[in-house]
Amino acid sequence: MTQSTQRLNDILKALALDLKPFAGQDITSRSPADGVTLAVLKAHSAQQAQDAIAAAHQAYLQWRTVPAPVRGELVRRFGQTLRQHKAALGALVSVEAGKITSEGLGEVQEMIDICDFAVGLSRQLHGLTIASERPGHRMMETWHPMGVVGIISAFNFPVAVWCWNSALALVCGDAVVWKPSEKTPLTAVACQHLLEQTIAAFNQEQPGAVPEGLAQLLIGAREVGEVLVDSPLVPVVSATGSTRMGRQVGVKVAERFGRSILELGGNNAMIVTPSADLELAARAITFAAVGTAGQRCTTLRRLIVHKSVAEQLVARLEKIYGSVTVGDPLTDGTLVGPLIDKASFEGMQAALAQAKQEGGTIIGGQREREDLGQDAYYVRPALVKMPAQTKVMEHETFAPILYIVTYEGSAEDAIAVQNAVPQGLSSAIFTSDLRDAERFMSPAGSDCGIANVNIGTSGAEIGGAFGGEKETGGGRESGSDAWKGYMRRATNTINYSGALPLAQGVRFDV
Ligand code: NAD
Repeated sequence: MTQSTQRLNDILKALALDLKPFAGQDITSRSPADGVTLAVLKAHSAQQAQDAIAAAHQAYLQWRTVPAPVRGELVRRFGQTLRQHKAALGALVSVEAGKITSEGLGEVQEMIDICDFAVGLSRQLHGLTIASERPGHRMMETWHPMGVVGIISAFNFPVAVWCWNSALALVCGDAVVWKPSEKTPLTAVACQHLLEQTIAAFNQEQPGAVPEGLAQLLIGAREVGEVLVDSPLVPVVSATGSTRMGRQVGVKVAERFGRSILELGGNNAMIVTPSADLELAARAITFAAVGTAGQRCTTLRRLIVHKSVAEQLVARLEKIYGSVTVGDPLTDGTLVGPLIDKASFEGMQAALAQAKQEGGTIIGGQREREDLGQDAYYVRPALVKMPAQTKVMEHETFAPILYIVTYEGSAEDAIAVQNAVPQGLSSAIFTSDLRDAERFMSPAGSDCGIANVNIGTSGAEIGGAFGGEKETGGGRESGSDAWKGYMRRATNTINYSGALPLAQGVRFDV
């Protein structure tokens, strides 16, 4: 038994989860920490996927009539279940996705936070009251559930993204069907297990409170996701992953006039102006660029630093990059865990080779810790000094590569460089100059969905709406009014007069 399989056994015991019913020959879960196979699961067939969607639709027909605060009570209880199992589920995220301990636990904390947020929301699904131009009339908006929400998620946030979507969708009165990444099926099975446990306990106390089939899990690769994408019984598809995936999903959902919430690739930048607190910037850069081994959609990939402070900042970064501990994600002190797989490592090396060809000077980027497993891919994070923002910097390479370019003029020049890529997820400026900070957040500033000041690009809180523009897809999830993406709006006009006046003064006497 390897270290990962031993860890998995302990986690399964803590979660009281038996994998036998899921065993098969289709989807392999492996641990990026040592490269060993954790389990092989069976995939759902297209027919099974359609049956699951149909069952979820039936459940929705009942769930939509349950008062929203009662729906919130289910989510509140799920948050409690997550609190009880935070350690085990966090460790499973580390074992299957390779996140270091605190980031695995942080992902579960994010689930708990969104449950809390959704519970509050369950009493606040407000519409507006609008002044009517007609006497004796009242106008208002009401928000109603949509139906089945299809959730397609990526490997790098194997549990939180599902919870962002499902906690909101469930309080909004929708049913959910989840197709997780084929690289992280076990975390999905564990989440579903915990939710089903919560539902069963709720139904025991209040028989029939939660209809059967309300939340479903589909194991499989993209073909299974395509069933969700194509189904007319799925009015909302929330898809998180690469821009390549979003291009396919977005078009197909639009063709049938469905609604998609697309959370796609980022190519995030930070500007460092001459007035920046460089020590603070160096720490923020390190977490944003190196954390999660560069495998966050919000990972910092481009540093645009003023020439006057570049030498000092880059020297500091080189020192930090040389000393961060790369290794087993569950060992204390590790800051950089493994890449997800060999393809990811090869993608990183190809990007570094291209950067070199385009005039880059590379520091780091080599494979390390081969002792941890032949099929485990650990790397020293790479700093790449570029002569300008070249082709390679226009793409998201899902690995810890930080390209550095300098600028000489004003913050506007740096903002222009930042915005000159096809993606628009996260961005940041480090500055002590109020004017630069405000300009960065103004209409002429960053074109991203997230624009931070003196904070790195990654590590968002759940209270804000999360998502990005351009090739990042335009979707918004999580906090603020993102719940509206999971509901439909009706405008109601009520006439309590005895007359029938028409709007705009139109006369139509009969
Ligand atoms: P991926 O695109 O390879 O896969 C994501 C999911 O989409 C998987 O479940 C996959 O099976 C499914 N899928 C792929 N093609 C599909 C299709 N045609 N129809 C239906 N389903 C399909 O992404 P990945 O490698 O797992 O994740 C990394 C990517 O995700 C990066 O680009 C990262 O930036 C992005 N990401 C974005 C966000 C965000 O919120 N913007 C969050 C996390 C990850």
